[in-house]
Amino acid sequence: MPSLEGQIALVTGSSSGIGSAVAKCIAEAGAKLIVNYSRSSKGADAVVEEIKAKGGEAIALQADVSQEDQVQAMFAKIYEAYGTIDILVNNAGLQRDFNLVDMSLADWNKVIGVNLTGQFLCSREAVKEFLRRGVVPERSVAAGKIICMSSVHEVIPWAGHCNYAASKGGVSLLMKSMAQELAPQKIRINSIAPGAIQTPINKEAWETPEALESLLTLIPYKRIGVPEDIGKAAVWLASDDSDYVQGTTIFVDGGMTLYPGFESGG
Ligand code: NAD
Repeated sequence: MPSLEGQIALVTGSSSGIGSAVAKCIAEAGAKLIVNYSRSSKGADAVVEEIKAKGGEAIALQADVSQEDQVQAMFAKIYEAYGTIDILVNNAGLQRDFNLVDMSLADWNKVIGVNLTGQFLCSREAVKEFLRRGVVPERSVAAGKIICMSSVHEVIPWAGHCNYAASKGGVSLLMKSMAQELAPQKIRINSIAPGAIQTPINKEAWETPEALESLLTLIPYKRIGVPEDIGKAAVWLASDDSDYVQGTTIFVDGGMTLYPGFESGG
C-alpha cells in the first residue's frame, strides 16, 4: 500500500459504507483522519475507535455537507485540531428514488444539495487551504488531492433515479473543471465511480438471493463489490503513486460500464 504518512484526510459521510472503508484504508496508509457524519455520531465514533485501535489517529466531526455554514465550521475545527488538510474525499451521498412525475422538488433538491453542492462546498474550502499552504515536499509532491465519489451513473442513465444520475453527471464535470483550473497549482482532483458496492444505500439490490442474482446480470465480473475495493483505489489516487493522474474518473465496477447486455454477442 502506498504511504500517506503524516497527511491529514477528510472523508465526508464516513460513518458507514464506502466512506468508512475509505477512511480506514487511508488511515492504514498513515494519514490522520477526520470522520465526518451528518446526524448521529454513533457510526463515526465506531470508525474513529477502530482506527485508533490499530494505532492510527482520527477525530469525528459533524457537518451536513449541503450547508455552507456547517461545512465552513467543520473546516475551522479541522484546522484547530490538525492545522491543515492534504486529502479530501467527497464521499457523502444519498438517494431519493421516484419516477419523474412523482418526484417532488424537495426530493430533487435534497439529492442535488448533498451529492453535488456538498462536493462543491467541501472542495472550495479544501482548495483555499491547498492554495494558502502550497506543496509540503515531506508529505506529498502535490499541494493537495481531492477524490470525488461519483458513480457508474455519471455515464449510465438511470430510470427512476433522475435526481441521482443528474447529481453524478454533475460531479463528473465539476471534477474535470476543478482539475483543469487547479492543475497549475499542483492540486490533483479525480473521481472514483463505484459500480454496485454492498452498502446500506442499495440494500434492496442485494438483500435477497433473487435480487442479488438479478444484480449480477449487470456485472461481467460476477461479484458484488465490497467497500474495501473502493478504499484501496482511494489510497492509490490520494498517493504520489498516481501523481500524473488528473481530471479522470476511475471506474471500480467489475465491468458494469462494459454494456453487459452484449456479453453473448448482443
Ligand atoms: P451509505 O448510505 O452507507 O453512505 C452515505 C454516507 O453519506 C452516510 O454515512 C450518510 O450518513 C452520509 N451522508 C448523507 N447525507 C449527508 C450529508 N448531508 N452530510 C454529510 N454526510 C451525509 O452509502 P454508500 O454506498 O457508502 O455511499 C457512499 C458514496 O458512494 C455516495 O456518494 C454514493 O452515491 C456512492 N456510490 C455508492 C455505490 C454503491 O453501490 N454503494 C455506487 C456508486 C456510488
